[in-house]
Amino acid sequence: MAAQTRRLTVVDHPLVQHKLSYLREVATPTVHFRKLTEEITLLLTYEATKDFPTEDHEIETPLETMTAQRIHGKKVAVCPVLRAGVGMLDGVLSLVSSARVGFIGLYRNEETLQPVKYYVKLPADVADRDVILLDPMLATGNSTARAVQLVKDAGATSVRLIAIIAAPEGIERVLREHDDVEIVVAAIDRGLNEKGYIVPGLGDAGDRLYGTK
Ligand code: URA
Repeated sequence: MAAQTRRLTVVDHPLVQHKLSYLREVATPTVHFRKLTEEITLLLTYEATKDFPTEDHEIETPLETMTAQRIHGKKVAVCPVLRAGVGMLDGVLSLVSSARVGFIGLYRNEETLQPVKYYVKLPADVADRDVILLDPMLATGNSTARAVQLVKDAGATSVRLIAIIAAPEGIERVLREHDDVEIVVAAIDRGLNEKGYIVPGLGDAGDRLYGTK
């Protein structure tokens, strides 16, 4: 189940919303937070890949020959944005096991408030792949918009973003700069607080995934 506009899908499936409610809770321990992040990402991946084209394929069942459907076209590159995006990676790989993986590291320059890249390692053939970017919290959108630009600079022409929670500001920012990106989220929250956290949100996704402060 999904509420959808052209470039934005909010997955309101009961399983996603149920798991998200536990993910948000402050009392949810790290071990459960990790598992829930992976499970929600898997469910969002199902939605994010629903327009992958298929083609006819002749197969033999034990009983007869039939024409079945197989995914046709580009291969996938999954690119988590460090560090919290890494917590979503296994959720995608459990469905798209042959995907290549790229990593994007960005930090925020505290003077300019702009994202600065410190590490980027993408598959050499990323231009020939459907890219799925992973960043659990689409907050201001500054770093996500930069991550999209980095994969496009490497030649990618098909980019999807899976986030767990988005702020309206972040969605607006990414789509303003990249109106060809498909965004799939589990929820759109009220907005950002003065520190740039999504409210009500779930806090710092990286800290909650890795048990840091
Ligand atoms: N990053 C997070 O981890 N949480 C937020 O609320 C915003 C950005």
